Amino acid sequence: MGAALKKIAKASDGRVRLGIIGRSNEGRPLRLATVGHGPTRLLYVTQQHGDEPLGTPAAVRALWALGVPDSQWHRWLRSRLTIDFVVQANPDGAVRNQRYNHDPSASGEYTQPGVGYDINRFHNPLTPIEDNPVPESRAVLRHWHATHPRVVVDYHMQGRYLQPDGRETTASILWPTSPLAGEAAVTAGRKLAVRNYDATTAAGANVSRYPGGDYEGIARNAYGILGSASLLVELSDLPEDQVELQIRTAFTSMLATAQGAADGSLWRANPDRADSIPERGPSLPGAVSSLFRADAA
Ligand SMILES: [Zn+2]
Repeated sequence: MGAALKKIAKASDGRVRLGIIGRSNEGRPLRLATVGHGPTRLLYVTQQHGDEPLGTPAAVRALWALGVPDSQWHRWLRSRLTIDFVVQANPDGAVRNQRYNHDPSASGEYTQPGVGYDINRFHNPLTPIEDNPVPESRAVLRHWHATHPRVVVDYHMQGRYLQPDGRETTASILWPTSPLAGEAAVTAGRKLAVRNYDATTAAGANVSRYPGGDYEGIARNAYGILGSASLLVELSDLPEDQVELQIRTAFTSMLATAQGAADGSLWRANPDRADSIPERGPSLPGAVSSLFRADAA
């Protein structure tokens, strides 16, 4: 992944810039790739859960698509936006194909004791950052405070489910639902959801509303509480021959979000339409996925 990013940075003549926002608990770099130099900042985060990989190749593809070509449209987009990608926020979990980070000292709520922390339960903006025990979460929080992104999209994966009409769900999305999130941020998150619903369904995805919780440590809620338009995108864990479709769905989400933020159409979406996104249906009968977990998000 580091090599893929370096290749893009080189091919882009410096229009994709690489950095790190910190180190994992085991010392791996938490990689940041940035494209654009405009005033509106966006933050995309992939693979906080190490066993939910497909946002990461989508990010690599989006960085290439936004940073390497140099058409008038690309120059315009990059003049409007600065897009930060935290690519694979949980590298220690990724190398182990596990949800949690790697911290054998972990214990208590939102951990697997002896294994690690669930990074996506430790973004609580009410916890002083220095008291947060999860270095990967601390790094994303610090980056948020350094850049104040207007939009945050967090890419995950879920098991396999049915739409209310019986088709298979290929993705589910949700905006902040914490009661601590302000009305303006929730409305902005709902507009972001509508934009993503329209763009990904137009690209062939079957999208439902993710049944997520209100806990403020979840990134979707945390960055909404802090004031960003915030969205969770959950790609379903489809069979191997549909992996390409899933990467393309996340890629579409990344580009449509950027286009809408650059031309302002994102903020003209009707937030009330978020309520018409169908609720996620039942599990696909007989499907086997390691991502079938009550607490997955
Ligand atoms: Zn997840």
